Amino acid sequence: MRNNEDNMFHLMSKYQIKTVQSLGQNFLKDKNTAMKIIDAADLTQEDLVIEVGMGAGSLSKIIASKCRKLVGIEIDKKLIPLLKDYLNDCDNVEIIHEDVLKVDIIKDILEKNREFKSYKVIANLPYYITTAVIMKFLQCSEPPALSVLMMQREVADRILAGPGTKTYGGLSVIVNYYCDTVRVANVSPDCFVPKPDVNSTVLKFIKNSSQKVQVKDKELFFKIVKASFAQRRKKVTNSLANTLYLDITREDVEAILVDMGLDVQVRAERLSIEQFAQIADSIYHKLGQEKN
Ligand code: SAM
Repeated sequence: MRNNEDNMFHLMSKYQIKTVQSLGQNFLKDKNTAMKIIDAADLTQEDLVIEVGMGAGSLSKIIASKCRKLVGIEIDKKLIPLLKDYLNDCDNVEIIHEDVLKVDIIKDILEKNREFKSYKVIANLPYYITTAVIMKFLQCSEPPALSVLMMQREVADRILAGPGTKTYGGLSVIVNYYCDTVRVANVSPDCFVPKPDVNSTVLKFIKNSSQKVQVKDKELFFKIVKASFAQRRKKVTNSLANTLYLDITREDVEAILVDMGLDVQVRAERLSIEQFAQIADSIYHKLGQEKN
């Protein structure tokens, strides 16, 4: 009997699949890593799972055996017959040939699966759209309860970083606003076929049961975080006062920082998520007062 890896290579040759680099096709061949991903997802027979980028199905078959329903999204038409063949003994799998970034795709999947109260996401992400996919799921109207995602190590490090570190940035703050993140495993290029040029990391994202920070205006909070980090070396006062879509002066920002007991020279990389929330709420009040 063939093991998973042999099976994958056999099917790839049967369907004459050549991996496409521009679609981020680095297929996972290492069974240990696959099991770490699956274990981290704590799957039960009640779960609905969405898999992004099924590839040749190396994760899909294991996921399907451990959950109630798997909905997999794969953009590459050539892989669909292979996936149907490989997964033909799994009657709980739906394969959607689509771009995961298509508007409303998550909403449409959830509409069709209303018997499930929540869902999980598992993916060995195509690296060229890593942050777009993460943000899409986090910011949709019904975010997943839990996600286990493989990504480029550098992106994972940015997500996990805390204030005062080199990799801390807007992505760390925004992801942290929505969920807690844990490193599951670092993965070497040898675990994939073909080998990627970068190292990978699997992260687990757990939706906050209670919001970590409360802000008056979420969009304003995100704008402030993004503007503050737009030029890392700049002081927050300069970054925010020079932002077209924020009608505030450097003096306003300085007054807010002083009120918070912060140095007016502070740079974004020093500010915690709680401090960003406080700045955002103060600006919200300030803008409100000016309107009245
Ligand atoms: N899950 C498989 C595995 O672990 O071996 C494949 C992972 S591979 C890194 C990423 C997969 O995502 C590829 O199969 C690729 O075709 C697919 N993909 C790339 N862009 C996509 C998109 N915009 N929407 C859906 N799938 C996409």
